[in-house]
Formats: sequence, C-alpha cells, structure tokens
Amino acid sequence: MSKKKVENDAQQKAVQYDFDAIIIGSGPGGEGTSMELAKKQKRVAIIERYKDVGGGCTHWGTIPSKALRQSVSRLIEYNSNPLFRRHEKAKHLTFSDILKHAEAVIRKQVQLRSGFYDRNRVEHIVGEASFIDEHTLKVVKPDGSVEQITAEQIVIATGSHPYRPDDIDFSHPRVYDSDTILSLAHDPRSIIIYGAGVIGSEYASIFRGLGVKVDLINTRDRLLSFLDDEISDSLSYHLWNNGVVIRHGEQIERVEANDDSVIVHLESGKKMKADCLLWANGRTGNTADLNLANANLEADGRGQLKVNDQYQTSIENIYAVGDVIGYPSLASAAYDQGRLAASAMIDHRSTAKLISDIPTGIYTIPEISSVGRTEQELTEAKVPYEVGRAQFKHLARAQIANSLVGSLKILFHRDTKEILGIHCFGENAAEIIHIGQAIMQQKNGGNNIEYFVETTFNYPTMAEAFRVAALNGLNRLF
Ligand SMILES: Cc1cc2nc3c(=O)[nH]c(=O)nc-3n(C[C@H](O)[C@H](O)[C@H](O)COP(=O)(O)OP(=O)(O)OC[C@H]3O[C@@H](n4cnc5c(N)ncnc54)[C@H](O)[C@@H]3O)c2cc1C
Repeated sequence: MSKKKVENDAQQKAVQYDFDAIIIGSGPGGEGTSMELAKKQKRVAIIERYKDVGGGCTHWGTIPSKALRQSVSRLIEYNSNPLFRRHEKAKHLTFSDILKHAEAVIRKQVQLRSGFYDRNRVEHIVGEASFIDEHTLKVVKPDGSVEQITAEQIVIATGSHPYRPDDIDFSHPRVYDSDTILSLAHDPRSIIIYGAGVIGSEYASIFRGLGVKVDLINTRDRLLSFLDDEISDSLSYHLWNNGVVIRHGEQIERVEANDDSVIVHLESGKKMKADCLLWANGRTGNTADLNLANANLEADGRGQLKVNDQYQTSIENIYAVGDVIGYPSLASAAYDQGRLAASAMIDHRSTAKLISDIPTGIYTIPEISSVGRTEQELTEAKVPYEVGRAQFKHLARAQIANSLVGSLKILFHRDTKEILGIHCFGENAAEIIHIGQAIMQQKNGGNNIEYFVETTFNYPTMAEAFRVAALNGLNRLF
C-alpha cells in the first residue's frame, strides 16, 4: 500500500469516527487499555456509568476490602501485643469505624486515577453505554440525556457483579452481597457468609477480627481448593482457631429474612441464624445492559465474553478485557490484559502475552500468596520435586514483628533445581512471594533454587525465609 493511500485512509477514519477507541468501564482493565492507547497518541474516550473512575476494583471490590482488612489486622496486632496491652483494655472497632478508613483510601485512589485520565487527555464520559452497532454506542447520561458516539475500535471492560439468585431478597436490610456490604449501616454481632471462595474467606477474616460471630458456608469440600493442600489446611485451621464456624459441602435451600435476624436453611437440613447474611457465591459478567446483539456479539450463561489471544471478540474491532472475559478475574491481570489489548489494537498482531504463572494474593488473616504449581499438581504429573520450608517463627524479623504465624514453601525439581511453585502463608505473604516469582521467571537456567543460598539477604528480613527454605530443601537432596 502506498504512503499516500495509508494517509488518506487514516484521514478518512479520523473524519468517520468521533474517537480512535472507546473503552467502556474505568476499572483496571479499562484504565490499562486507555493509558496504553493514549500514550500511543490515539484519541481515546472512556465511558463509565458511575460518577467516579476506578471501577468495581476501587469502589466495591479490591480496594475497600483490602483497606478494611488492613484496619482489622492492625487492631489484632495491637490487641495481641503485650507491650500495648499492659495498661489498657483491648481496643474494639466496629465495621462502621473501619469503613471510614476504606472511604478515605477510595477518595485518594479516585483522585489519583482521575489525574491519569486528565494528564493523558483521555475523555471521561459519565453515562451508561450500550451498542447501537459495531462502531456506535448510545450513552445515557445521569441527567437522562442521550448521546451517540462512534469509534473505530471499542473495548468492553465492564467488569462483573455479584451473582444474585432470584429467590433471595437482596432488598432486605439484613441481606447483603460483596458490593452492598459496604453500606452495612449497623454493627452486627453475628453474620452468615454463604460462599467460601476468596471473597467469602476474606470477609470471614475481617468480621471475625472485629469480634463478630461468623458462620462460613462452603459449597465445596475444602477451603479454596485451588491452593496447595497444606496452605488450604492452614487457612482452615486458623479460621477455626479464631472461632469461625466453617461448614463444608453445603447448599442453600432458602433464606428467611426477618425484622430481627436472618435464618439460612441448608439442603442438609441444618439451619443457622445471624444478624445478617453476606452472599458471596459467584459473579456474573456485566454484559446484560450492553445490547450486545446490536454489535453481533453474545455473552455466555455467566455473562462473559469469549476472546482470542489478542483479547479480540468475534467482531474484529471489538475487544474485551478484565472480569468480563472470566478467569483469572483479578485486578492485577485485568490491568495487564488492558495494556496487551491496546498493543494488539495498534499492531493488529501482537506477540506480547500475559505471564502464565499469575500469582495469587488472598488477603485473609493470615494472608496467603502463591505462584506456580501445587504439591498435588506436581504429584499428579509425576514430577520428581523436593520441598524446602521456612517457618516464620524461626525468623528474627518475624520474632521482632511478633508475626510468628506463617511459613514459606518452595517446590523445586530435584534434578534441575528449577523452582516449580512457591506457597506462602502469613503476614505480608502477598509481598514476600514476589521475591521468589522474580527468580522463577528467569530464563536460560536462571530459575534455580540455589540463587537463594548464593545471594546475601538483608538481615533481619522476612525475605530471609527464601534462604532458610532453600537450604532446608537442598539439604533433603541425596
Ligand atoms: C470483594 C472483592 C475483593 C477483591 N480483591 C481482589 C484482590 O485482592 N486482588 C485482585 O487482583 N483482585 C481482587 N478482586 C477482583 C477485582 O476487583 C476485579 O478482578 C477487577 O476489578 C476487574 O477489573 P475490570 O476492569 O474488569 O472491572 P471493574 O473494576 O469491575 O470495572 C468495571 C467498570 O465498568 C463500569 N460499567 C459496567 N457496565 C457499564 C456500562 N454499560 N456503561 C458504562 N460503564 C459500565 C462499572 O461501573 C465499573 O466501574 C476483588 C473483587 C471483589 C469483589
């Protein structure tokens, strides 16, 4: 194609469409996409139905839950430290108290993220978007006015919302899901959490840390079964030891919401009563209001869209990233998917890929993080691996911080010494894991457990757990 023709085509497109790209949704998926496109000089707009940017991640999901957890964790630390407790009674905080800190963090996040859009000249349109055709969106503004805008390329980054079964009355003031729990107006003395996935387990830790009686109902046989068994067992033990009542392998039959309590009836015949219910069982992609059919697109039964390895849907100019495409449904991955989608939108055939070993960070109390394969997976695949362990209680830094609960486990190939999986349990696990991840991702033989015994660590640090675990594992070899 001649240079002149390319220029003409570009000019035509510029005339034809209001924007080069429109992104629907301002969560991490939308932000990652729009920033990357804007930096490549594209004319970008982001449509967000909520008045502030940040997405479910900032307003209802990751950020508030982590801020709540941080306050609870500090409260527990204070109350269990004899230095502070010698002269004072235990401190007590309510859910409303810790919500104030979460709200302050949300405000700071919104300010920060709004600045990113402003500085990169991404137009922020507030309104509800839906498709008119493959290049045209209808936007219903908060004042009810309607606008049509067009773009050469469109990205769906609309996230997900908690799944709500029809037979449960979520308008009842004692029935919440993980979005509405942030508007919990009273301070419950007891709560039933239905669904013991990551969100359910994290909220079980938060409420229990506040002294609330927690019944955690798990529809599966074990907690977070995708984790290494030892880690999942440790979480079960610690939740149990802290007084959380966990019931495995249960299914809900019905919910009886009364003026003064909620009663959950289980199919097994059990029933339990509490001040409120937190429903944390499943999420659905936000696609129902997009009029996908107008763009010749269709979501699956869970509201999710299928994409290829370029994050492109079945329609060439429409891409999708984040929770709306399903696994892994993490803010961390959504942001990177957005950046990768933007590269694909610009280059048309991008070779950049999301890393295969996405780390898992679970902010229960104690915290959990892992990267790579579990012992079950390696055993199943008949990989000859060895295990190196370090217990936090034997580390000087953990003793100083009075953070004795926890351990680090490194799984490595007994012949090549390649690190195959790292599993961490305890305070700051989600930070600690990244040291191991950095070594695991080294190419050309750089992924080797011996790195940890050959290097010098700051002392005292939690990072030292890697040296201790590596020595422990290498000493098992014969
Ligand atoms: C309680 C909880 C805790 C979590 N903790 C973590 C964690 O610790 N770590 C982690 O990595 N992940 C965590 N997650 C998951 C994480 O929040 C999501 O994976 C992430 O937010 C997905 O990003 P996204 O950009 O796809 O969508 P979202 O962040 O959900 O953003 C989508 C945006 O699109 C907007 N939107 C939807 N439809 C329209 C429309 N038609 N028109 C205009 N705007 C629209 C929505 O208003 C929303 O703002 C947690 C989730 C929950 C619920």
